[in-house]
Amino acid sequence: METKDIIVIGAGPVGLFTVFEAGLLGLNCVLIDNLDKPGGQCAELYPEKPIYDIPGVPFQTGQEHVDALIKQIEPFSYELFLNQRVDSLKEVEDGNENYWEVITSEDNKFISKNIFIAAGAGSFEPRRPPNIENPDKYIDKGVSYAVKSKDKYQNKNIFIFGGGDSALDWTVELSKIAKSISLVHRRDAFRGAQHTEEMMRNLVKDGKVNLLTPYLIDSIIGDDCVTEVSLKNFETNEIETQDADELIFLFGLNKKLGPILEWDLGLNGKKISVNTENYQTNKEGIFAVGDINDYPGKLDLILSGFHETTLAVQEAYKRIYPGERVPFGYTTSNSKLQEKLGVKK
Ligand SMILES: Cc1cc2nc3c(=O)[nH]c(=O)nc-3n(C[C@H](O)[C@H](O)[C@H](O)COP(=O)(O)OP(=O)(O)OC[C@H]3O[C@@H](n4cnc5c(N)ncnc54)[C@H](O)[C@@H]3O)c2cc1C
Repeated sequence: METKDIIVIGAGPVGLFTVFEAGLLGLNCVLIDNLDKPGGQCAELYPEKPIYDIPGVPFQTGQEHVDALIKQIEPFSYELFLNQRVDSLKEVEDGNENYWEVITSEDNKFISKNIFIAAGAGSFEPRRPPNIENPDKYIDKGVSYAVKSKDKYQNKNIFIFGGGDSALDWTVELSKIAKSISLVHRRDAFRGAQHTEEMMRNLVKDGKVNLLTPYLIDSIIGDDCVTEVSLKNFETNEIETQDADELIFLFGLNKKLGPILEWDLGLNGKKISVNTENYQTNKEGIFAVGDINDYPGKLDLILSGFHETTLAVQEAYKRIYPGERVPFGYTTSNSKLQEKLGVKK
């Protein structure tokens, strides 16, 4: 199997900047994230909030910051794998050399001498309906926690559960293509944008959306796939069963360290201990950068993560090319970078 120079677990700001620093040294990266988009906390938790402490950038929203990082790594060689969690990390031998192998929840396998854990506070995972036992057995058979492709919902009986922006947005959007669509929420008040709530309520008036409040799910029915759903009315305690093809649970996300806890790394609480020379963990070739790491004086700030990964990449280079001098240079005089950026002299 082809080996990669660096495998980065987590495509938050620090994971993205790792690609830049690696690229400057001519190293390639694979970036893997559990989310459906790059950007970590900035994109998921505060895309519209302003950040004021990125050096030299007086003001940037979370999403603008992520967009700028993605633009900045355009010249470099990297592959991005989304919607999959890195589940396993183990040492493997190839010839006389030792490598690390990661396997994702989508069964993608990668091998490298250098693993960068840029996992922030852990992988973002969708909240499941608390009262349903193992709803995941219906994944891709009528249960989902995000809308990845609208086509799947064409002409289907859809139930959306939740009271935030995602539930409102997708109710409005999928009402255009669904056979029927119901929005189910525990109370008749929503946490999403007022404008979208108004659109949803207008669709209810026009008979295009069925609003079910105060309801919650009672059970999922179906052998191989979802065929019906039972819903409980909070006020009357009555249970009603309706035909259903697709149930979409949009209850928000939890952060979970998950598999990282099992990788035998030195932990301090929920953080991975590293040295401050090269941000390596207790295992050679495994680095931890950004919010996930811990050392005396650590601050959970984006700029700290950028510094950490810059030094870690230097060590990664030495591991790939032992004995060679790391080609350090200023970007102002890095001719290879300028060539890639199309800078005319
Ligand atoms: C509301 C808010 C405001 C903030 N404002 C500022 C600010 O003004 N300035 C500042 O410097 N910082 C700010 N921060 C903190 C800043 O967002 C973090 O320091 C930064 O996001 C850390 O980046 P990271 O790349 O280390 O991790 P994250 O941004 O957390 O990204 C980690 C990524 O790793 C993924 N991941 C984890 N485990 C796995 C796995 N096993 N497999 C696959 N993927 C995995 C996660 O899904 C996630 O996308 C703020 C944070 C919040 C919540």
